[in-house]
Amino acid sequence: MKILVLNCGSSSLKYQLIDGDTEELLAKGLCERIGIDGALTHEPTGKDKVSFTDPLPDHKVAVSRVLEVLLDPEYGVIKSVDEIGACGHRIVHGGEYFANSVLITDEVKDAIDKCSELAPLHNPANLIGINACEEIMPNVPQVAVFDTAFHQTMPERAYLYAIPYKYYEKYKIRKYGFHGTSHMYVSRVAADMMDIPIEELKIITCHLGNGASICAVRNGISIDTSMGFTPLDGIAMGTRSGSIDPAVVLFLMKKEGLSVDDMDRILNKESGVLGISGVSSDFRDIEEAQNEGNPHAATALDTFAYRVAKTIGEYVATMKGVDAIVFTAGLGENSSSMRLLICDYLRYLGIELDSYKNSLRGKPVEITTKQSRVQVFVIPTNEELVIARDTKEIVDKLGK
Ligand code: ADP
Repeated sequence: MKILVLNCGSSSLKYQLIDGDTEELLAKGLCERIGIDGALTHEPTGKDKVSFTDPLPDHKVAVSRVLEVLLDPEYGVIKSVDEIGACGHRIVHGGEYFANSVLITDEVKDAIDKCSELAPLHNPANLIGINACEEIMPNVPQVAVFDTAFHQTMPERAYLYAIPYKYYEKYKIRKYGFHGTSHMYVSRVAADMMDIPIEELKIITCHLGNGASICAVRNGISIDTSMGFTPLDGIAMGTRSGSIDPAVVLFLMKKEGLSVDDMDRILNKESGVLGISGVSSDFRDIEEAQNEGNPHAATALDTFAYRVAKTIGEYVATMKGVDAIVFTAGLGENSSSMRLLICDYLRYLGIELDSYKNSLRGKPVEITTKQSRVQVFVIPTNEELVIARDTKEIVDKLGK
C-alpha cells in the first residue's frame, strides 16, 4: 500500500509518497505560496527535481496538482491514483482528545477544530488539507497523526502550571508539548541501536531545529518535555524566546506601551538566538559570525547550549538518571560544534565524545567513546515515516 503523507500549513503543503510495505520513499515535494500565486517543487526518488509555478489558489488545487505530478508519465511515480491506499496527515494540536493516531471521521474533525484555539496558525490549515483530500479522494481513508499525542502520558505534576486550577478546567491551560512524533521516533531508534528494550531505558531526546524541544522518555513514554501550552516555551530557539520570567512580559508591555500582538511578535519572531545575536535565526549564520569574531553571536550560541544542557540536567534529575541522549533535527543532526558545546556542560555525567564520530553526518551514529557512562547519539528524524507507519497500521486494521 502506498501512503501519501501530508503536512499542511496556512500557505504551504509538504508531501511524501511512501511505500507502506517497504517503507521506501517514492517522492517528496512542497507546494508553497498557496493562495498567493503558487510554486511546486517535486522530487521523485532517483529522478531529477522539477519545479512549477502554476497558480495554486487554494489547498484543493494544490492537492490536485500533487496528484497530477505523482501520476505524470515523465516525473511521476505511480500509474493510477488507486495505488494510493491512504493519506496520513500531520496535525499539530490534538489537545487532550488524542493520545494516539486515529482514522479521521467527522467527530475527529470536530475535535481538531476545537483545538484550533490552542494552535490557531496550524490546526485550521491542517483541517483545510484534510477536507481537500476528502473531496478529491473520497474513498481513500485519512488518518490523523498528532504532534502532541506522544506527550499525553506526562503525569499531572509535569503538565500542570501553578496558576489557579480553574483555568485548567475552563480553558485546558496546561503543558501539551510538541514534536512528539520526532521524540518518539528517535528514542526508539536509539533503543534499537543500544539493543535494549525501550521499556528498560531512560532517554533524553533533543529535537533542535528552527523550533526546538527536549523530551524525557522513561520506559518508552514521554514523562516531561520542554515545550508547553504552546511551542514558545522551553529552550531558546531560532526566533522564539523559550521560557522567561512571565513578569518580563508584563513589564515590557507597560514600559513600551505594547499591544498583545506586539508582544506576541517579539516573543515568537524577534527573540531567541536572533534576538541575542542580532545576526540571524539560522545557526549556520551565527556560527559564521562567531568565527568572524562577533561577540553577540558567541553569546547567543553559548546561551542556547547552556539552556539545552540545563534542561537535560532537569530531566536527569526527574528520571533519576539517564542512559542515552539523542540529538536530532536541523541543528542537532548537523552542528558538531553545538553538540560539543552542549556535551561539554555534561561531562559531570561521565559523557565522553568521540570527535571523529561527532563529525559524521547523515545516518544514525553513536558519538561517544566506549568509556562514556552515557551513550550519545545523532539520529536523523523521520516524522513522515512514523505518519506512514501509523496510517498503514490503522488502515490495515480496517480491512480485517
Ligand atoms: P524546522 O524546525 O523548520 O523543521 P529544521 O529541523 O530543518 O527546522 O532545522 C533548521 C535549522 O537547523 C536551521 O535554521 C539551522 O539553524 C540549523 N542547521 C541546519 N543545518 C545546519 C548546519 N550544517 N550547521 C548548523 N546549523 C544547521
